[in-house]
Amino acid sequence: RSKALSVAPILTKFQKDCDTPLPVLRYVADAMADDMRAGLAIDGGSDLKMILSHVDTLPTGNEKGLLYGLDLGGTNFRVLRVQLGGKEERVIATEFEQVSIPQHLMFATSQELFDFIASGLAKFVEGEGNRFHLPPGRKREIGFTFSFPVNQTSIDSGILIKWTKGFAVSGTAGKDVVACLNEAMERRGLDMHVSALVNDTVGTLAGARYYDDDVVAAVILGTGTNACYIERKDAIPKLQGQASSSGKTIINTEWGAYSNGLPLTVFDREMDAASINPGEQIFEKTIAGMYLGEIARRVLLAMAEFAPLFGKSIPEKLFKPFVLSTPDVCAMHQDVSNDLQAVGSILYNVFGVESDLSARKAVVEVCNTIGRRGGRLAGAGIVGILHKIEDFEDVKLGKRRVVAMDGGLYGNYPQYRRYLKEGVAELLGTELAKNVAIEHTKDGSGIGAALLAASNSIYR
Ligand code: ADP
Repeated sequence: RSKALSVAPILTKFQKDCDTPLPVLRYVADAMADDMRAGLAIDGGSDLKMILSHVDTLPTGNEKGLLYGLDLGGTNFRVLRVQLGGKEERVIATEFEQVSIPQHLMFATSQELFDFIASGLAKFVEGEGNRFHLPPGRKREIGFTFSFPVNQTSIDSGILIKWTKGFAVSGTAGKDVVACLNEAMERRGLDMHVSALVNDTVGTLAGARYYDDDVVAAVILGTGTNACYIERKDAIPKLQGQASSSGKTIINTEWGAYSNGLPLTVFDREMDAASINPGEQIFEKTIAGMYLGEIARRVLLAMAEFAPLFGKSIPEKLFKPFVLSTPDVCAMHQDVSNDLQAVGSILYNVFGVESDLSARKAVVEVCNTIGRRGGRLAGAGIVGILHKIEDFEDVKLGKRRVVAMDGGLYGNYPQYRRYLKEGVAELLGTELAKNVAIEHTKDGSGIGAALLAASNSIYR
């Protein structure tokens, strides 16, 4: 008996449980739009927080002057400066720098972390060359991309709800992160002004919109996932009394928390139960980079327990959570050689096992099943947003709409990208899908924040 045949029942069941036929995609797209509506009605109205970004002014292309961007969202922070020349000259000059955050600062006090950031920023400012010009009497303005959950109180202030992604800095939660940065800059003698505080999805949308007026939404597919889009203020009941209800604003959906009607398997449920946030971020756990490798590992373990997939004994490493990464899944999925050589060496490197062709084929099918489900469901989420935006009338009338995409998963995993676009096309139909462009904008969030600092400048 071949090994592939003997793991067949598990594989078949897994494929069936992960299946995303059109009715499932349609359900997810519709329920996503419904959840968005409920989250806009009142705070806590649905799984989706639908956070008000307070970004009401998008870049137009007319922005001028010297702006800085500061991006804190993971183990690095990035600084950039850009000289903008308005409609004609556009981006005249730009410079970036990336600073890695020492491990100990992730467990330090708020003051220590922000002092480190202010000091990195100050050094970067000192290196400002003669291609950059600040009008006399003005402060340098910053757009601050901060990709942790924030209760945004205005365009330039927001209270940190909690640190995530491995940060355990004491004393920031419950405080305005812009105030924390301002105090640190003051201690450092750095006289700059934070004019915009933005989430990375919002920065991505702004960065993409600068180049293309048809951009209406931005999606991040990296370690985690999130999406934001441009909404009419009169479609946001919970805004009531806060501001005039005319015009548009950006809504940060926090769509990773979506959970309705997803095709989940026993492996998803077990991974969720073992996670640090059981029952939360279910959409994210089904489609984002942090989890796809771990789902695959759990399936392979079940297969090896059921049949001698990698020989008689089960390799020790197959029991270890998160040893198989999403880039590994992607690389195995990519292997088109006759003997699946790359699959064999990844299995050897990660789990220390020898594998024959039938085992490798089963592994590729597991990767394909996970990538396919993730990509197609991400596509359904995007269609949910498009439906919500303007009941889709404009697209039906043939108007072009663009969704800006960023993140390492989307950028590096071609099959996932293909499945995502396939899901969108199936839901919209090929004719309408022609009016929707899904465009990869790499690292647009930093420059997007600088652009938002310009459109929300104190010197406007
Ligand atoms: P982050 O989301 O952590 O801010 P990125 O947008 O760069 O940063 O995304 C990094 C994530 O992208 C990784 O955690 C991984 O899951 C995914 N990724 C990176 N490279 C690949 C790859 N080659 N194939 C599939 N996924 C990848």
